Amino acid sequence: MKIKLDKSNELIQTATIWNAACQDVMDYGFAAHDYNKTRLNRATYSDLRDKYPTLPSALIQTARDQASDMLKRLRFEKKPFKHSLGAVRFDIRTMKVFLESGYCKLTTVFGRLRYDFRLPEYYQKYATWKVMNAQLKIAKNACYLNVQVEQPDPEIVMGDRRLGVDLGINNIAVCSDNTFWESGPVKAVKGKYQYLRSKLQSKGTRSAKRKLQKLSGRERRFQRDVNHNIANWIVSKPYDVIALEDLTNIRNGNKNEKLGKWSFAELRTIVEYKAMAIGKKAVAIDPRYTSRTCSKCGFQKKENRNGKTFKCKSCGFQIDADLNASRNIATFSRSDRSRLSVNQPIVAG
Ligand SMILES: [Zn+2]
Repeated sequence: MKIKLDKSNELIQTATIWNAACQDVMDYGFAAHDYNKTRLNRATYSDLRDKYPTLPSALIQTARDQASDMLKRLRFEKKPFKHSLGAVRFDIRTMKVFLESGYCKLTTVFGRLRYDFRLPEYYQKYATWKVMNAQLKIAKNACYLNVQVEQPDPEIVMGDRRLGVDLGINNIAVCSDNTFWESGPVKAVKGKYQYLRSKLQSKGTRSAKRKLQKLSGRERRFQRDVNHNIANWIVSKPYDVIALEDLTNIRNGNKNEKLGKWSFAELRTIVEYKAMAIGKKAVAIDPRYTSRTCSKCGFQKKENRNGKTFKCKSCGFQIDADLNASRNIATFSRSDRSRLSVNQPIVAG
């Protein structure tokens, strides 16, 4: 489908440099009689980096892919030619398109830039589809993004109301519907256990050891009960898809003085099976950038987050940091590609 973006000098300059790089690769490949991507890359990459220092490496790669495809198509019978404002190829590494929210982020020679657009009525039915590839075209008064989308697995899309849930230390769970499960009460109980434990440990008698064992069993059950309560609270909300971060190797087991070691993995597992039991779905998303991206404008910077507060360095939007993350989790769950492997590619537009 064809999406109209405002005319942009940054995009025009990006297109000019990208097409020049693409032409360089084609010139080399034509002379060398070679369209193999790996060999083209090896032979041209460092020269291109030197010659076009502002062109990001991911764009050099798409330029090389394009060059390889064009060389292959013409079979060295004719030297391929790329117009200086020819179409620029974008892939999932170089763009992110949020069809429903009406904006995209494109990698350019000026870094990653955001462009807003209005999705026409007749494309609305594709708004929840996954964007796979796109070609940027520069026209006289506007820029166009030709977007190829893929239908998501129909099983996943029963309804598509999405709840993002951020799990963490300040709040055990924060939901994108502005609700918090605070960790305060839990911290108090955990603190009590910790106190009792240290007292018993310092005693070191046999009866103290027995009591310690009982204590740890009680603590585990307490934690599991709380996790069940939180999971019930989450899955009973009026949403179809519950998005959580895939924290497998990241924050799980994270230690906090008062909270001790909280089992977020257990909480996630309980949410998953409780959701499934009532015909909802829980999905895990890539946790990178959820805490540093502005949930309002999409601007991404580490400094956006300052402890418990999120303040966007671009648009000034200020919000609780965990709540911001939970909203991003809901948004990112729409474009997470990790669940796409079984889908048939269907091209629209
Ligand atoms: Zn912002």
